[in-house]
Amino acid sequence: MLEVKTIAVNPQNTSQDCSNCGEKVPKELSQRTHSCLRCGIIIDRDLNVAINIKNRAAGHPVLKARACPMQWQDCETRSLH
Ligand SMILES: [Zn+2]
Repeated sequence: MLEVKTIAVNPQNTSQDCSNCGEKVPKELSQRTHSCLRCGIIIDRDLNVAINIKNRAAGHPVLKARACPMQWQDCETRSLH
């Protein structure tokens, strides 16, 4: 369902942390809705997890991690576009 194959992200607490304000919102596995008392957001539990993973992945240096052994300068130019 989620495309997390290429980026390694620590999934710990992604289901508990509020994707909107970062507040930890403990919930049971059977609880399908994420509702945060701090910021008032009410969204699907899976959506909250997806946003958390996306936010964590956004800090990952994807372009720098790309292997580019032969033509260094070409690669750097392209990654700046
Ligand atoms: Zn919140």
